[in-house]
Amino acid sequence: MKICIACGMPMKEPVDFAMGDPEKDYCVHCARPDGTMQSYEEKLSSFTAFIIRTQGLDKQVADAAARNMMDRLPAWKTGN
Ligand SMILES: [Zn+2]
Repeated sequence: MKICIACGMPMKEPVDFAMGDPEKDYCVHCARPDGTMQSYEEKLSSFTAFIIRTQGLDKQVADAAARNMMDRLPAWKTGN
């Protein structure tokens, strides 16, 4: 089973993959409408919003938590 390199989500079915393509290394949630992978900043802002929504944290705290989480994923390990 593959895991999305950008968010860590397990990808089991073709529908979980970007463009429904199991050859892709990232999931449908990390793809732009044209099928390319979202940038660090795009992913960071959606992650931050997700944490605020699910955990009710302050924006600043949620932002730090999102960065922390993303820094462990293969897509973002270098260059940040
Ligand atoms: Zn993903």
